[in-house]
Amino acid sequence: MLTRSALIYLSRQEGLKEFASKFGIFKKLTTRFIAGETIDEAIAAIREVNARGCTASFDHLNESVNSAGETEAEVTEYLDVLAKIDETRIKSNVSIKLTQFGLEIDPELAYQNARRVVSEAARRGNFVRIDMEGSGVTQATIDVFKRLRSEFGLNEVGIVLQSYLYRTMADARELVKIPARIRICKGAYNEPPDVAYPQKKDVDENYVRVMQLLLSSGIYHGIATHDPKMIDATINFAEREGIGKDAFEFQMLYGIRRDLQEQLARDGWGMRVYVPYGKHWYPYFMRRLAERPANIWFVMKNLFR
Ligand SMILES: Cc1cc2nc3c(=O)[nH]c(=O)nc-3n(C[C@H](O)[C@H](O)[C@H](O)COP(=O)(O)OP(=O)(O)OC[C@H]3O[C@@H](n4cnc5c(N)ncnc54)[C@H](O)[C@@H]3O)c2cc1C
Repeated sequence: MLTRSALIYLSRQEGLKEFASKFGIFKKLTTRFIAGETIDEAIAAIREVNARGCTASFDHLNESVNSAGETEAEVTEYLDVLAKIDETRIKSNVSIKLTQFGLEIDPELAYQNARRVVSEAARRGNFVRIDMEGSGVTQATIDVFKRLRSEFGLNEVGIVLQSYLYRTMADARELVKIPARIRICKGAYNEPPDVAYPQKKDVDENYVRVMQLLLSSGIYHGIATHDPKMIDATINFAEREGIGKDAFEFQMLYGIRRDLQEQLARDGWGMRVYVPYGKHWYPYFMRRLAERPANIWFVMKNLFR
């Protein structure tokens, strides 16, 4: 059986993706977790997500942006996505990564690029979520978000926090005061023990603490997890505190725990599915397999279907 670290190693080997892409069969393998390579394929996937009672968030995958020119293509992609959402009337907002907009090249460039997308979303009555990346860019991401939030409304731009970071509770307390819409997730990057809880138990406990703070704030937040324990803790807390089903939403990734997504939507909870698409799907796909090597089995079943 492939181990998690071996899969994470393979996720960094873009050359393998080039090799894999040459064979049509690999497309079949990836469709469980990736909505396709184009906006139109993502729209088709989102129509199905909407038909299952869930809203969506577009995520254009591209972890290989290395120049200002390449960031321009990302902005154009998201402006197209926002226009297509309106044209097709699908229920979706967008999620962006500031490194794709140039955060590691020049934070000012990332701010200007993100500003163009948020401004267009605001004009169209839509919402932009700024994903959170590795701890090396946490502060820079929050700084850009705060600048944008000072110019745009609560329902126009939001951010993500990760419960594995020690700093997150303090960030959550500060950001709800602005106020800000937050997505809480556990965190997906490999972080050292001086910035993040090494034990899953502590990450989970912090998740519950932050979730309770968010739900008590009266602001509409996103509770992003596939973990039934986190979901039960959220529902129990909401019911105990008399927090309505429309006061926040659950969020999950495309293709993961579809049964649970549908069940929560049927039970009347807000449920948003994060829909990744794009040519650069390979590292994202491999990370999902690494998170749960049992998913290799799902992928193999698809192959022989
Ligand atoms: C909508 C959304 C947006 C996200 N945005 C960000 C972001 O901006 N920044 C960031 O760092 N991370 C982000 N993440 C990823 C997140 O941080 C976690 O890495 C990921 O969600 C796995 O954590 P978990 O809460 O699902 O629980 P885990 O502790 O990983 O898993 C708990 C249980 O959930 C189920 N499960 C989890 N993963 C899978 C899987 N792949 N297949 C099947 N079952 C599974 C299993 O039952 C498992 O036992 C996002 C996640 C979601 C859902």
